[in-house]
Amino acid sequence: MTITGDQNLIKKMNKTIVLDEIKKLELVSRAAISEKTGLNKGTVSSLVNELIESQFVYEAGTGKSSGGRKPVMLLFNHQAGYSIGIDLGVNYILYVITDLSGDIIYEQKESIHDHSTVAILSTLIKTIRELFQKTPKSPYGIIGIGIGVPGIVNEKGTILHAPNLGWKNVKLKQALNDEFKVSVVIDNEANAGTLGENQFGRGQNAENLIYISAGIGIGVGMILRNKIYRGVSGYAGELGHMTIKADGEQCRCGNVGCWELYASEKALLKQSEAISHDENKLQQYIHLAAKGDESVMQNFSQVGVYLGIGISNIINIFNPELIIVGGRLSTAEQWIKDTILSTVEQRALTYHNQKTEVIFSDLRTKSTTLGASTLAISKFFTDHEELI
Ligand SMILES: [Zn+2]
Repeated sequence: MTITGDQNLIKKMNKTIVLDEIKKLELVSRAAISEKTGLNKGTVSSLVNELIESQFVYEAGTGKSSGGRKPVMLLFNHQAGYSIGIDLGVNYILYVITDLSGDIIYEQKESIHDHSTVAILSTLIKTIRELFQKTPKSPYGIIGIGIGVPGIVNEKGTILHAPNLGWKNVKLKQALNDEFKVSVVIDNEANAGTLGENQFGRGQNAENLIYISAGIGIGVGMILRNKIYRGVSGYAGELGHMTIKADGEQCRCGNVGCWELYASEKALLKQSEAISHDENKLQQYIHLAAKGDESVMQNFSQVGVYLGIGISNIINIFNPELIIVGGRLSTAEQWIKDTILSTVEQRALTYHNQKTEVIFSDLRTKSTTLGASTLAISKFFTDHEELI
């Protein structure tokens, strides 16, 4: 019998459906999959056998009988491979290794002092090599690398502009592809963070979700009607550079009075000359606030006001159900939350704000790495349909 292209396509689609059911339900029988998906038992059985052969699914004992023989239960083998997720921050790099379900099995952080592309690229390559060594043995090994970066990225994985790193036209994907024989996915860090929140964080049930990544700069990711919104060229979400002061300070993006100049870590750091300029500075600042330092607490409050102003604009534009504040600055929740919420209350249009909730990420600084890792996993499954 010859199999036509259409039949092949249908088979692949069905297999993806079966695998998705096993991932979703955990410990499920062939009969239950057939019932859930509407595929006939013979089809499910043969697809499951192929998935077992490719080691994405395994049999895990028997379940309860509902009459005849006890059914064999199936599980997704989330350790069939591993993914590396990276958050390339402005003053740090955070790395995680996750399994195929996004569970973190290892994490590592590095401080950045030298922003040159040469320095950062060599750090990335060196550490990724070490991560390959640290990853447990598995059928597929490291299946991909996902990186969230603080800038505008094109479809080729080139960073067109990252103002806070001072980077333009850096071919990051190509550089890593030259080193590592796995697929590399590069996305804006706020987009990756939004996916992280949507898959693993507090945004799992939101159809319309805005994620604000507040660190040295501010990035914004949007999920509208369950889909990440990227705009016509893929560059949407640069709300850190919306103007909130017409005659404000000069920003590195070329504009003046950008939101992130007043509402990010940058705004805080500017105010304290005494503390050294490194990535621990925010922690030192939080420590001072906790000890009751009035001027530090005042600075946090002020940053909260400015965050609230930008968030009010976002609420008026999008009327979302959920806004999640994440990124490094969210670790200062205690010191910025009140002024954020009171400013939103005062400034956002009442009708728009009625059903909007503003909350803080519980993934804290991990949203981007988890989202980046998920991007690599999705790409692996899309690229290797023949395996699944
Ligand atoms: Zn700007």
